[in-house]
Amino acid sequence: MKIYEKAPAKINLMLDVLHKRADGYHEVEMIMTMVDLADRLEMYELPRDTIIISSQAGYIPLDEKNLAFQAAKLIKERYDVTRGVYIHLDKKIPVAAGLAGGSSDAAATLRGLNRLWGLNIDDEELQELGAELGSDVPFCVTGGTALATGRGEVLTKMPNPPQCWVVLAKPPINVSTAEVYGKLKIDENTKHPSSRRMQEALEQQSFAKVCQELGNVLEDVTLRLHPEVMQLKEAMLKLGADGVLMSGSGPTVFGLVSKESKVARIYNGLRGFCKEVYAVRLLT
Ligand code: ATP
Repeated sequence: MKIYEKAPAKINLMLDVLHKRADGYHEVEMIMTMVDLADRLEMYELPRDTIIISSQAGYIPLDEKNLAFQAAKLIKERYDVTRGVYIHLDKKIPVAAGLAGGSSDAAATLRGLNRLWGLNIDDEELQELGAELGSDVPFCVTGGTALATGRGEVLTKMPNPPQCWVVLAKPPINVSTAEVYGKLKIDENTKHPSSRRMQEALEQQSFAKVCQELGNVLEDVTLRLHPEVMQLKEAMLKLGADGVLMSGSGPTVFGLVSKESKVARIYNGLRGFCKEVYAVRLLT
C-alpha cells in the first residue's frame, strides 16, 4: 500500500522571544498558520527493517540528518515496529527558508506512518513525539492556526486569519537560524510584537488588524546581517502588499494581499529581485 501526505509550509504572523532559558532554549510566543505551498510525501512499506529516503531536491540530506528519517526512526523505536519504509520527498517548500519545510516533512511522516502501520496514535501523542524532533514539529502535526509558547511546543488553537493571498519571496542567501538566535539581544529597547493583539485581530476576523499586528522580533537581526531582506520588504510594500513580514529567522519574506487583482503585479515585480517567488492561498 502506498500512502501520500501533504506537508505544508508555515508562516509566522507574529514571533516574539521573551528570554533565553536555563536549558538553552528560547522562551517564545508565536502565532503560526499554514499556506498552500507544500511538499508531498509518498510512503510505502519495505519488507526489510530499514528506512530509505529519496528526493528530487539535490540539496537536502537523505540520511539520518533528514528530519523525515528521524521521525520514521522515532516512531519505529517507540512503537516497536520492525517493518521498514520507503519515503519519497517531493520538495516544493524552499529549504532553509524560515518556512519549516523540514519540520513539516517530519510531522507528515509521523501522520503517515501512524496510518500506514495502523498505530492509532492520537494527535496529542504525535505532537509529543514531534517535540522530540524540533520546536516547530508539534504545530506542523495538526496545522491550522495556533499560538505556540514554551519553546514552541505548547499549542493553543486560534481562529484562522481571513482568507487572502500570500506572496512569498526567498532571496538567494543563506540564513543560519542558530546565528540569528545567537545575535538576538532582548533588552528594554526591544520592540515586542503582541500575541494578545494578534489574537484579537483573528477573533475579530479583521484582515486590516492582522496586517497591522504582523511582527517578528528576529527581523532586526536578520535585516542587519542581510540588508537585501529589507529591500525585499520595501519592494513588496511598494508593489501593494497589505502587510509584510519575514517568516521565522528568514530569509523568506511574505506579503498578505486581500485583492486578487494586485497579486500578479506583486509577483511579477518581485521576480526582478529573486527567482523564488510564490503566490498561494492560506490553508484554511
Ligand atoms: P525553520 O523555519 O523550522 O527553522 P527552515 O524552513 O528554516 O526551518 P528547513 O527547510 O526545515 O529550514 O531546513 C533546515 C535544514 O534542515 C536544511 O539545511 C537541511 O539540510 C536540513 N533538513 C533536514 N531534513 C530536511 C527536510 N526533510 N527538508 C528540508 N531540509 C531538511
